[in-house]
Amino acid sequence: MTRTDLKGMTLTELEEFFARWGKERYRARQLFRWIYQKHADDFAAMTDLSKELRGILASTCRLSGFPAERFETSADGTEKYLFRLEDGETVESVLIPDDARRTLCISSQVGCPLLCGFCATGASGFRRNMTSAEIVQQACYAAKRLSERGERLSNVVFMGMGEPLMNVPEVSRTIGILLSQFGFGFSGKRVTVSTAGIVPEMLALALAHPVSFAVSINAARDDLRSLLMPVNRKYPLKDVVAAMRRIPLQSGRKVTAEYVLLAGVNDSPEDALSLSRLFRGGRIKVNLIPYNAHEASPYRAPEAEVVGRFRDVLIAGGVQTITRERRGADIRAACGQLRGSPRGKKS
Ligand code: SF4
Repeated sequence: MTRTDLKGMTLTELEEFFARWGKERYRARQLFRWIYQKHADDFAAMTDLSKELRGILASTCRLSGFPAERFETSADGTEKYLFRLEDGETVESVLIPDDARRTLCISSQVGCPLLCGFCATGASGFRRNMTSAEIVQQACYAAKRLSERGERLSNVVFMGMGEPLMNVPEVSRTIGILLSQFGFGFSGKRVTVSTAGIVPEMLALALAHPVSFAVSINAARDDLRSLLMPVNRKYPLKDVVAAMRRIPLQSGRKVTAEYVLLAGVNDSPEDALSLSRLFRGGRIKVNLIPYNAHEASPYRAPEAEVVGRFRDVLIAGGVQTITRERRGADIRAACGQLRGSPRGKKS
């Protein structure tokens, strides 16, 4: 008999599931707490459910999950996990400690179909979409690992392998679990969806969930952006920027424009000036990411002075700008370096 996997269901789906069995809806909230707050992976541990219900769940349902098959720890404390999914595919997640913050960068697809020229994930091709059970398990694993050492997962970013907005149903269900007060209980500002700019889905998801958005821009001109990101041919800059301006914002929040700086390609003062014109007006902030090289890439990282000059032009143009600190590059955990291939030690 195939057991129903309760991991990855939204609270509403779980309530409906219990209602179909003639059970009280609040059972779903109890189960949610056990799975996502108390890190239970066995129905037998759920002691506030009746013995009879635990027995029924154990014989007809399951809670899928997987530990990290391998992990690596960077000199700066960043941890990279490699997960093997039930069909043998592999994905990676990265946990980034920063003062009190513990941010998990999760994958939403095995590989990625968008083929951005500077990205190791794109270079390794696309295998399949991940399910919500698989996506949320990355957070379950990290949260449990952190709780065992007295720490808490504080932020989740969909910036790992894949384009989350090409897997909207499963990503949306995962976000529901992350934001539910009976699930992870994150506020929307602690969950960030990073996209290459899939315009229709961006707006739809923004209306469905009050999460934060980061959009990969990487060039201030369409010809260059299409070269770096082929998806620009379908969703050109003006449409992407217009969508960024239409995303509903909670007070004090901004949409982030991610800009990977590639030496001699998109890092000139003229590029910075064009970018500042694009984002003038206060609603969008720019996150500069000096390139993290990987084998087979024709690109290089710019010198620190070039990065500083680029940032200064943006700031002079009235655009809030942050330069992202390079994290986990020694274990290939930095932005654009995830491949999902086994390296590192077994857990
Ligand atoms: S940068 Fe993001 S969208 Fe582009 S290929 Fe890599 S994972 Fe996919």
